[in-house]
Amino acid sequence: MSHPKNQFASDNYAGICPEAWDAMAEVNQGFANAYGNDPWTAKACNLLREFFETECEVFFVFNGTAANSLSLASLCQSYHSIICHELAHIETDECGAIEFFSNGTKILLVPGRNGKIDLDEVENTVNRRSDIHYPKPKVLSLTQATEVGTVYSVEEMIKAGETAKRLSMKLQVDGARFANALASLQVAPKELTWKAGVDVLTFGGTKNGMTVGEAVIFFNRELAQEFDYRCKQAGQLASKMRFLSAPWIGMLKSGALLGNAAHANRCARLLAEKLQAVPGVKIMHPCQANAVFVQMPQSLIEALQKKGWMFYTFIGSGHARFMCSWKTTEQDIDLLVADITTLAPSV
Ligand SMILES: *Cc1c(COP(=O)(O)O)cnc(C)c1O
Repeated sequence: MSHPKNQFASDNYAGICPEAWDAMAEVNQGFANAYGNDPWTAKACNLLREFFETECEVFFVFNGTAANSLSLASLCQSYHSIICHELAHIETDECGAIEFFSNGTKILLVPGRNGKIDLDEVENTVNRRSDIHYPKPKVLSLTQATEVGTVYSVEEMIKAGETAKRLSMKLQVDGARFANALASLQVAPKELTWKAGVDVLTFGGTKNGMTVGEAVIFFNRELAQEFDYRCKQAGQLASKMRFLSAPWIGMLKSGALLGNAAHANRCARLLAEKLQAVPGVKIMHPCQANAVFVQMPQSLIEALQKKGWMFYTFIGSGHARFMCSWKTTEQDIDLLVADITTLAPSV
């Protein structure tokens, strides 16, 4: 089903941004080596190394579920465990892919306010048992930006890195919306990653405006050993790799990667500000990235859906979620706010 108006259900409802599209058109000529042995893939990897200001290993896969499950599987044996927030996408929205690709590594859940993991609880989860009957904690996985549209600050990332290190765990970051976190904090990418102790980052391209594809970045390069085999076995080695890697070139060189994220963040903030003024509507989490979580009466949710608005109510904390993208306009926001404002008193 295609939609005549902008929908706020997810940032992946939007299409492909011009910078990604043009980059694909540019590499769509002549012939090139397959399976990533082409000049554009090499260039995209180098641009990402420049972006993070470090030598890192870079891989391109088709989607975020693969990026998360394969990177986590590469850090774990089947008898290990991964600690994450109870709302983490890897727990709630990947259909058991982590457990599947890691041959049974267990996920251990930890609470925390506003979608951010409570590090004391992480510590308890690790230290409450040291016997052989407990799945040995091996990885701390954080989502940046989080599932409820908040972001971990640089200080919080440093603390998470220190905690992971002290507990002999690796630190993996699900960065499906990492660009939104960067745009929100306006810090150098290295500050939120390897300098804070992040071993592996999955860097989302799709929700930011690309066609398909996420980058898996190993800052800890030893951990990348044989990751190429893992990708291939999982059906994640693109033979026409240049179409996954070229958009990264276009979006890094043009600045669209951070530009799109900043735009989506701005739209979300505007939407949150406008909704704050509507009686009966409550903003549930600080709006720090491109999502707005709203509590409103069930009757209002249904009235909006009847008017054709699409949004999720099962994600994160279970409130109505409105997601902005590179394609969202101020006019789209006004249309939604107008409908909410009109319907709110009548339901
Ligand atoms: C969208 C998303 C992913 C990736 O999902 P895919 O649909 O597999 O691309 C991973 N983590 C988070 C937090 C997401 O929002």
